[in-house]
Amino acid sequence: MTSKTSPLANAARQRLLQRVEAMQDAASIGMSDRVTAELKSIDFSTLSGYDELRFYRSLGQKFGVESPYFRMHEGLAGSHTQIAGKALLNFSSYDYLGLNGHPEIVAAAKAAIDRYGVSASASRHVAGERPVHRALEQALADHYGVADSLIFVSGYATNLGVIGHILGPKDLVIYDSLAHNSVVMGGVLSGAARRSFPHNDLDSLDRMLASIRGHFERTLIVVEGLYSMDGDYPDLPRLIEIKSRHSAWLMVDEAHALGVLGKRGYGSAEYFGIDPQQVDIWMGTLSKTLAGCGGYIAGCHELVEYLRLTVGVFVYSVAMPPVIAASALKALEIMHREPQRVTKLQQNGATFRSLALNRGLDIGNGAGTAICPIIIADSAPAVVLSQRLLERGINVQPVTHPAVPAKASRLRFFLTAMHADAEMAAAIEATAEELGQVRDRMRALGPLL
Ligand code: PMP
Repeated sequence: MTSKTSPLANAARQRLLQRVEAMQDAASIGMSDRVTAELKSIDFSTLSGYDELRFYRSLGQKFGVESPYFRMHEGLAGSHTQIAGKALLNFSSYDYLGLNGHPEIVAAAKAAIDRYGVSASASRHVAGERPVHRALEQALADHYGVADSLIFVSGYATNLGVIGHILGPKDLVIYDSLAHNSVVMGGVLSGAARRSFPHNDLDSLDRMLASIRGHFERTLIVVEGLYSMDGDYPDLPRLIEIKSRHSAWLMVDEAHALGVLGKRGYGSAEYFGIDPQQVDIWMGTLSKTLAGCGGYIAGCHELVEYLRLTVGVFVYSVAMPPVIAASALKALEIMHREPQRVTKLQQNGATFRSLALNRGLDIGNGAGTAICPIIIADSAPAVVLSQRLLERGINVQPVTHPAVPAKASRLRFFLTAMHADAEMAAAIEATAEELGQVRDRMRALGPLL
């Protein structure tokens, strides 16, 4: 094999050499403060949080604990999976209704590929759309009983881009303290004033609005239909009453509520029996129950039209690959057609919760939904416990500080409609056994952890 070096690579190599030489010179002659500061300013390892990453990596190496992240799944990861050649019970899949890999969805995806290829290659504005884009938007609008909807290539970017776009410096965004990072960052992008209220504390939200709402033009309240860290949900009827009284918009992120809450899995509105039109902005993702990828906004005609024509994250970004739109559309159809999947998932949530409580585990705010936290408190034991369970054939992810408050690190079990009762019982038994041992070992290691 011949190795050719492009002019670009040569130039980059030259720059690197110069930088290394500058560093060596500075080190040998004793660097001035200015040179030190300059070198630091171009050194990526001085970026915020990098030291902490290194610290945790070395701690893990010292105690022989592997990183629980980026585990490599070798096939479809649903209620079961395979990692490093080993078959495992899986509690780290958001495929709540077990639709990923469903033959009808696979067939719809293949048909879309045959017809459109795999990419839409550019924005719908400039390069046009495909019938599956509009069909999915119509189906989502019908699902919520609202006028229209718009799909985006990423759920994260949907929150970021939409919140960042509809609010400005004269406005206020106020969200639950457990709201997803994409909501928080959307607020940052908007330039609006930002406040958070304690998790699910709607009295506090009401009081905050009473004292500050008057200082702002528009106010957006953002909550999740089902919280992905705690597995609990807000009191939606009360939120609607509060937002109406304070003339605010209410946005509900249904990423984890779709397919999970409500008798037929329609989400928060169905669960609480409210008219979906009372919520100003429904947001959701296609990546979980709908076995796809991307986000959506559903609401009134004016909102969706405005976004379709102006929001940068849609206007200046590639259209959703038709194959994804086609598979999410089929997944939504199957969810509507087979409500027994939702029933089984809800039974699993209740079963898992009572199994955990009977075994004396702390499930925090877990409300018996498809997400059940097992609170461990400190981060290190949560990570070690996850590894011990992996060795026992159970894949479950730890969530540690800062993703959750300090002393609230946990294992987070995601249930699917495909988990059997015996599998959930085995997981709880193994967790309780291993947790006792891990805690004893951690106590012996002392206060460092
Ligand atoms: N909102 C919530 C509540 C989420 O949990 C997530 C991701 N898990 C997102 C938005 C982002 O969605 P996606 O991963 O589909 O980009």
